[in-house]
Amino acid sequence: MSVSTSHPLAFPASAPDSLPQRLARVGLRATRQRVLILDGLLTLPGHPTAEQVHQHVTRQEPSISLGTVYKALDSFVAAGLTRRVASAEGSSRRFDADCTEHHHLFCTNTQEIIDYCDPQLDELIRDFFAAKGLPNFQPHSFSLHITGDKVTEPQAGAEER
Ligand SMILES: [Zn+2]
Repeated sequence: MSVSTSHPLAFPASAPDSLPQRLARVGLRATRQRVLILDGLLTLPGHPTAEQVHQHVTRQEPSISLGTVYKALDSFVAAGLTRRVASAEGSSRRFDADCTEHHHLFCTNTQEIIDYCDPQLDELIRDFFAAKGLPNFQPHSFSLHITGDKVTEPQAGAEER
């Protein structure tokens, strides 16, 4: 089964997208559950897991099962609305509502995945592989996964929060 994205767009490209429109754009029926799940994905910070999205949506719609959330997220990924993020810990699948090219900082303390964008870095990587080449591989995009710890600057006079 393949998902076709070649449907003529029903909405002008410049219109601000509501969540149902975003779903419709990629050919998904905007059911109430899907809208809630997409909303959860966009609201939760740090690239949530399906479990975190599930927890979030059940506050509004307790009847939604984790299986429904998994299925909806998979359909978002298949439709190109969402990306899967490889987590450094490898245990859980994480989801990214931002499908533009960017890099990720993974905090081993909080398990947060923070978006990182730097056009200069992109150029560096592209130039590197353009010059060096990859044997038997044609790269389309690059995404760095940088693992580390979030460092919070100690603020004077604000020791306890
Ligand atoms: Zn991201």
